[in-house]
Amino acid sequence: MTSHSDIVIVGGGIGGLACALALQQRGFRPRVLERATEISEIGAGLQISPNAACVLDALGLTPALEAAGCYPEGIHAHHWESGRSLAHVRFADLEYDAPYIHIHRADLVGALLAAVRANDPEAVQEGYTVDAVENGVGEARVILKNGDWLRASWVIAADGIHSRLRDFVCDQPTPPRFTGNVAWRGLIPVDRLPTGLQPPKDANIWMGPGAHVVMYYVRRYEVLNFVGVTERDNWQQESWTEKASLKDMLGDFAGWDTRLFQILAHADPNACYRWALFDRDPLPHWYRGRVMLLGDAVHPMLPFVAQGAAQAIEDAWVLADALARWQKAPQFDPSAWYQAQRAPRCDRIQRLARDNMKLFHERRAPVRMARDLVAGGLAAMSPKLAARRVDWIYRHRS
Ligand SMILES: Cc1cc2nc3c(=O)[nH]c(=O)nc-3n(C[C@H](O)[C@H](O)[C@H](O)COP(=O)(O)OP(=O)(O)OC[C@H]3O[C@@H](n4cnc5c(N)ncnc54)[C@H](O)[C@@H]3O)c2cc1C
Repeated sequence: MTSHSDIVIVGGGIGGLACALALQQRGFRPRVLERATEISEIGAGLQISPNAACVLDALGLTPALEAAGCYPEGIHAHHWESGRSLAHVRFADLEYDAPYIHIHRADLVGALLAAVRANDPEAVQEGYTVDAVENGVGEARVILKNGDWLRASWVIAADGIHSRLRDFVCDQPTPPRFTGNVAWRGLIPVDRLPTGLQPPKDANIWMGPGAHVVMYYVRRYEVLNFVGVTERDNWQQESWTEKASLKDMLGDFAGWDTRLFQILAHADPNACYRWALFDRDPLPHWYRGRVMLLGDAVHPMLPFVAQGAAQAIEDAWVLADALARWQKAPQFDPSAWYQAQRAPRCDRIQRLARDNMKLFHERRAPVRMARDLVAGGLAAMSPKLAARRVDWIYRHRS
């Protein structure tokens, strides 16, 4: 491979594929280089809030999302130990102009990939690992691990939290930091659950001392997805495919709400995974020369606000817009504009995710009790006030 392509995207995850599709819509012919020999996602769910759902709609994906997703009624907090309902905020009361969606990651990635390939069957090339990038005059050179290279007018690095190209953009590269949290992930076929044990059709959350669980339906209510985050410092692997022991997972939630525990006990033992949570500080520069960063490569977010993929999708839309403006007026600086549009919002969400980590895992019982009382009171009185921590995120339109 020694060639020229206008725009090269490194990484075929949610961010890279969404960017490819947004660029195609604006008349570009991007090429996505993905190191995996086959793009696939493991069994896990994803929450897509209205701010990202409206971008996916503009990308033409609503029919695919409707076919595979679920539309939760609201956000529902349960007491971690008794299971009692603490607060319920209905999305209908928040009056968003776009839906909140729960979807299996594989279904979203599959829909993005199919749409990109329908526009251009050659657009996504699997089995290509990018090793380095070099800036030239008015172009960049992408160097592959196998020694091949290609030239591009712009390179978009969407290569995830361990991004190789981020180090090229940073003045002082540092590795991601382990947060001391591990996420258990898994799926529960709903038909395995005894009658009456199904949780409400909401984004359900239980927040206990040093841990929390989020649970919701995917695949048209046939499957329940859960994420259980616990504080542990003895395991630091990051892999969607690293199998974990159901017994170990249940051990972390012994003493929790008995209904929740029974539901977790029905998880598919062959589809229980764990993932160590890493974090990075907000980055002052999102680009260098002709190389721009996108998604987790620039602003990895802890899953305490469920925005990592949503923000990668927003990045994709804005970056495609920036390049379309540059094409019309070559003196326009797309990278500076892209960073100015995106960085303040993403920095704020990264910080909120860190704050939520403390709030969700509060260990002091009186503080937990106060937190839950305030949430319940606000939800009953004013749903909009109850949702204030995330409302500004969900209401934003790219
Ligand atoms: C437990 C958990 C729950 C989450 N829940 C949510 C949620 O509900 N909602 C939400 O919005 N977000 C959620 N997130 C965050 C979300 O998963 C990520 O933010 C999102 O997947 C990032 O997408 P990305 O495309 O930037 O990176 P990635 O998905 O990491 O994709 C990067 C791609 O680049 C490829 N790649 C890497 N290096 C190279 C290379 N050198 N050459 C070529 N290809 C390369 C990789 O193989 C990969 O395909 C969650 C995260 C976790 C850990």
